[in-house]
Amino acid sequence: MNVLSQHASEHLAELLEGFGLAAATPLSNWIDGDLVAGEGESITLTNPATGETLVSYRDASAALIERATRAAVRGQQEWMALTASARGRRMNAALRGLEGHEESLAQLESVVAGKPIRDCRAEVGKVREMFEYYAGWCDKQHGEVIPVPTSHLNYVRHVPYGVVGQITPWNAPMFTCAWQLAPAIAAGNGVVLKPSELTPFSSVVIAKLLESGGLPKGLINIVNGLGKTTGAALTDHPIISKLVFVGSPQSGRLIAEAGARRLVPSVLELGGKSANIVFADAKLDEAVASAQAAIFAAAGQSCVAGSRLLIERSVFEQVTTRLARAAEQIAVGLPSDEATRMGPLQNRRQFEQVTRMIDAAVAVGARLLTGGKRPAGLPDEAQGYFIAPTVLVDVTPDMEIAQQEVFGPVLVAMAFDDENQAVQLANETRFGLAGAVWSQDVARAHRVAGQLRAGTVWINSYKAISVMSPFGGFGESGFGRSSGLDGLREYTVPQSVWVETAPEASVAFGYGSGVG
Ligand code: NAD
Repeated sequence: MNVLSQHASEHLAELLEGFGLAAATPLSNWIDGDLVAGEGESITLTNPATGETLVSYRDASAALIERATRAAVRGQQEWMALTASARGRRMNAALRGLEGHEESLAQLESVVAGKPIRDCRAEVGKVREMFEYYAGWCDKQHGEVIPVPTSHLNYVRHVPYGVVGQITPWNAPMFTCAWQLAPAIAAGNGVVLKPSELTPFSSVVIAKLLESGGLPKGLINIVNGLGKTTGAALTDHPIISKLVFVGSPQSGRLIAEAGARRLVPSVLELGGKSANIVFADAKLDEAVASAQAAIFAAAGQSCVAGSRLLIERSVFEQVTTRLARAAEQIAVGLPSDEATRMGPLQNRRQFEQVTRMIDAAVAVGARLLTGGKRPAGLPDEAQGYFIAPTVLVDVTPDMEIAQQEVFGPVLVAMAFDDENQAVQLANETRFGLAGAVWSQDVARAHRVAGQLRAGTVWINSYKAISVMSPFGGFGESGFGRSSGLDGLREYTVPQSVWVETAPEASVAFGYGSGVG
């Protein structure tokens, strides 16, 4: 073991100790207000920056799912016994539990996820933002009164499902955890959440800290383990009455199938292959700066990564050349280094997948303008999953690299001749998560934005995202929405209540009078 990996695993051990998770087998689950070790097979985590072993923990497995769901039932009942305003106050108060732990939490995530420390600090800030926003919704979930054509008073309540199951990926574990926990409990549900087996600890710590700030025991439970064991036990559990999944289309299909078997609805937040369209009249300095951030931030491991850059032919050469130079300036380095803007890929499987896709693209005629290999200038110890920011040209729309999500720092650039072709190219994918248009022609920018088949569209911007605004996909990017009121409504069911107000109730045999 080299010095760096020794340091990283020792650092992780200290952080786990500090949060109370350290034991012979790390306490990798948060169930009913307790830290609990897994009972299944051993799962070993690797340091993404060095490729060396970090720590091993045990899969939660089905027995702990049983405990977690039962705890969530009790936690949810206690939660719903409070008034709506009290729930809002408790959610805000829960954030006090995080105070003083933000830096350790960011460090924990940085070591395990391999994300630059500055990105992890920003992610901790997002946890606060999500909880503050949804705390405000607790006492504002009014129902409606429907002017039905009978003597009834008909009102609609938005009632929680009960206990929801959530499953999250490894690319932004803290963000995703808070993104789904906050609306779920604001809507009155108990939760069992399974993070990715590759980034298990931060969600456990967040749940523990929030509970120390005043959330009821058992309201939020975190179970860690593999998708095929712990994940499948969660989706199949009879107590779980809604599934919310963030991850790949391949796993998303399995979740939706598991839901369908039990007739349980699901929300799927899946991958993307987002088009970033640059017209010749755009402010090119801004478009280039934004395009490189859109794809290379988080080493491209972002569902909304601007992975397809569509450029008007007259400025294609200029934009791609400038972009390749900008890509070469990005500080790629160790996640712990304050100067690092881009770290490694999170795991070997992802590294091999990205490398394979680049090689396959080159083999069918794509040309590397920059990148495609290990970045220059890394410290010797950094033997992990690094790939330099990569720009590919001479790409045709039918190539795998132009159609499939890479989930790595790989940009494909393609030229278009007119507006219609730009829209056609942009929509020529099974995904539909996000897209952007760069142009100073306001009418054209809106016209094109309106034709993009994507859940989020930016004009002269990229990656502006807020918990206040609905987020989700078309096509293979999934269905249902997160964030905003739409995200909250995914966690409730409308219940229609009919109250007879006539002095004497008329009993209808069949449809009541005035109905139908
Ligand atoms: P993944 O689909 O491999 O895993 C996601 C989660 O699903 C993990 O927790 C995994 O253990 C679990 N899982 C896998 N099989 C399962 C099964 N049979 N039953 C239950 N759970 C199962 O995805 P990943 O590689 O962790 O993440 C990358 C993907 O996530 C990319 O496609 C990315 O675009 C997508 N993503 C989407 C969004 C969004 O908001 N749309 C956000 C972040 C990431």
